[in-house]
Amino acid sequence: MTEAKLVINENPNKKTKPDPDNLKFGKLFTDHMFTMEYSREKGWFQPQIVPYAPVSLEPASMIFHYGQSVFEGLKAYRDENNDVLLFRPDENLKRLNRSNGRLSIPPINEELVMDYLKQLISLEKDWIPQAEGTSLYIRPFIIATEPSLSVAPSNNYTFFIILSPVGSYYPEGIHPVSIMVEEHFTRAVRGGMGTAKTGGNYSAGYNAQEYAANQGHAQVMWLDGVEKKYIEEVGSMNVFFKIDGQVITPELNDSILQGVTRKSIIQLLADWDIQVIERKISMKEVYQAYEAGTLEEAFGAGTAAVVSPIGELIWKDESMIINGRQTGELTKSLYTTLTGIQTGKIPDPFEWTV
Ligand code: PMP
Repeated sequence: MTEAKLVINENPNKKTKPDPDNLKFGKLFTDHMFTMEYSREKGWFQPQIVPYAPVSLEPASMIFHYGQSVFEGLKAYRDENNDVLLFRPDENLKRLNRSNGRLSIPPINEELVMDYLKQLISLEKDWIPQAEGTSLYIRPFIIATEPSLSVAPSNNYTFFIILSPVGSYYPEGIHPVSIMVEEHFTRAVRGGMGTAKTGGNYSAGYNAQEYAANQGHAQVMWLDGVEKKYIEEVGSMNVFFKIDGQVITPELNDSILQGVTRKSIIQLLADWDIQVIERKISMKEVYQAYEAGTLEEAFGAGTAAVVSPIGELIWKDESMIINGRQTGELTKSLYTTLTGIQTGKIPDPFEWTV
């Protein structure tokens, strides 16, 4: 049983708010955090909002050894009336529970956690920056805390929600990036953890990411781990192509994360009478479209950047320049509409904002 009563222990030592023009991603945290404990006997219990502070864990805590942890990422915005907007937070809590399932972590009560999250955000409302493109990044995560070296699911967990004011992803305006198609490393495999938001999937990508960065590329494009043929994701974003007037995105499988932005783009385009084709798409097909002059646009989609246009794709020894390294019209419209809905600047016919 989950304990519903939230205890709030207010921080008497409030920090000075940062300069909104100089915010980095995820370096600064607000005055409070949410925590909740889990034990086999009690279920989830002791939900509380406490001052943001270091935590104390035994070195034997299972999180340090076998990586049993999950996380989420979403953003809060403040609109012109000073109201706080969350973008589809129910989708993030649903995904958190799917990730929990994959890592043998007990499920959370999504309704209760939504209520706790709202209370935390209300308390930290003044930390939500208001400048164009800025937001409050929300990081819920769960770690295995039982002190034990057994290779088995932990009997104890802690759920945290921490908050970080973040700057604009595009301080100089949206701009296309260069992406290297990764031919050696694999992010996630069939039957693996790719659909779960868990730490190991991200550290698995660091080698490739470092290599691509050293070659001057912003990120890597991940291919399937079996044949190294089909496109899966780009960096930590889902990916879309516009080829000969058709919008195509890789169909979901158990090595692709189900992005909230991806889902929203598919729904938004349907509303614009543009059908997104969800199917397997190979690098060879993209290259052939490039050669035929029909590769019109390509972009990544995720919470951090919303959409990130791809200006150049490096595959084997080929360099494909997409749309003359300019942001395509469709990419631009999606960016403007999604960010408009998220920040309350344009009406939200889908009732995505909460
Ligand atoms: N793929 C991966 C691997 C990610 O980490 C993310 C970011 N959560 C995404 C895709 C995009 O998901 P979302 O749109 O929900 O941010």
